[in-house]
Amino acid sequence: MFKSIFRKHFIIYISALAVSFALLGAAMTTLFNRYFISQKAKTLTLQGQKILSILMPLYYSQNNLFRKAQQNLLLNEMSNFNYYMDTTCIIINDSQEVIASAGAPDLGTLLPTEGLEPLFEGSAITKQGTLGNIFSVQMLTVGLPIEINGKVYGAALMSTPMPKLEQTMLDIFIIMLICLALCALFTVGFIFFFLRSFSRPLREMNEAARVIAGGDFEKRIDPCSKDEVGQLAESFNNMAESLNKQEELRRAFISNISHDLRSPLTSARGFLQAIEDGTASEEKHGYYLRIVMDELDRLAKLADDILDLNSIQAPELKLEVSEFDLNGLVRKAARMFEKRIVDKKINLRLKFADDKNIVKADYDKILRVVYNLLDNAVKFSPPESEVSVETTVREKKVIVSVKDKGSGIDAENQKRVFERFFKADASRGEDVKGTGLGLAIVRAFLKAHGETVTLVSEEGKGSEFLFGLTLV
Ligand code: ADP
Repeated sequence: MFKSIFRKHFIIYISALAVSFALLGAAMTTLFNRYFISQKAKTLTLQGQKILSILMPLYYSQNNLFRKAQQNLLLNEMSNFNYYMDTTCIIINDSQEVIASAGAPDLGTLLPTEGLEPLFEGSAITKQGTLGNIFSVQMLTVGLPIEINGKVYGAALMSTPMPKLEQTMLDIFIIMLICLALCALFTVGFIFFFLRSFSRPLREMNEAARVIAGGDFEKRIDPCSKDEVGQLAESFNNMAESLNKQEELRRAFISNISHDLRSPLTSARGFLQAIEDGTASEEKHGYYLRIVMDELDRLAKLADDILDLNSIQAPELKLEVSEFDLNGLVRKAARMFEKRIVDKKINLRLKFADDKNIVKADYDKILRVVYNLLDNAVKFSPPESEVSVETTVREKKVIVSVKDKGSGIDAENQKRVFERFFKADASRGEDVKGTGLGLAIVRAFLKAHGETVTLVSEEGKGSEFLFGLTLV
């Protein structure tokens, strides 16, 4: 199952999915990280501003009572922040000496932190780290200057431990990972079933092609959809159908040909034997020999058909082009039917547009075309009827019409008579023999000349075959 298209697409989709999820995960983690740190920094700033609002009046007031109350309030607020918000508060003066602190480890008098200069120039700072190793863990620190009338008196440093932040972000990351894993699971399942149903008709077609290659042309596929794959399945079924038809026609051809080969040989042998052993009386010899010759003619036509079949199946039909009089060619073809016409009492009418109609074509092939058309016209005409070959000139072309008043061809069969091996039901009788190749040869030979053959026929009334050749 994990072979070819399915496997290829599955791997491609899953890889694309994994890369997208990894990028999405990385982007979201970074964004969350930044967002949480900036939110935390904002909270620390707000807390710092609260501390500053209590601290600032101490620098103005000389009232001891007020100062005492304010100092208590400050320490109280600082320890509240420390207790409830896990915020460490350190207040320093402009010489970096610690004035007050809450939650900080033993600091000594001087804060050993470097990089606090911006504070003394009146700017707030945000730092990540241990503040010069005064903390044992990584901290996020926001520093706010104590600035009154443009003079900086010191700074308030509000710090919160990073590990706590990281834990929160890790929790969010895990929740996000679970969501992504669930999405991935759903998507992988969806891709799996989608690809399986997508590749199913292709697998079936592959299987059917193998069966057909093995000689069973009955195999068909359920198209199941209207998209390109469904259309491919339909085309495949059409191809199988046409192969099946060709196979049926080929079988019918083999069985006809075997019969057509055996029966003239058997009959000719019978008549010759009768002459040889004297069973046939002397006055019947001529009659018997004529029958034998007829049978040999039929055999020769069969051999020609088979040879022509070979040539029309070749990728390119070679023409030996020359200039000749088409009227002469038609007369020659007509002479070949003299005996059959006389036997069937058929009236063969030849009517030419001009004395001579010179065309440039392959003489033998055009002779074969006219011969095959005349052969059918005589074959499918009842005795004492009329067959005509007529030429007309239209612009730079001479149009040849071979017409009979015979059985005709019904509309359904008219579409198929030019197929190889095709014989209409009406002509399958023992008396009307043929291989079903004559018209296929006519069409192929004319096509090689860049021409087409047209059929006009009505069942029971007769048929007319028309083709044109360019005049020189
Ligand atoms: P075949 O060797 O069997 O005549 P063709 O290819 O020449 O093969 O003709 C194919 C079929 O077309 C014939 O079997 C016959 O059914 C039909 N057909 C051809 N020409 C005529 C015609 N002039 N009148 C009636 N049916 C014809």
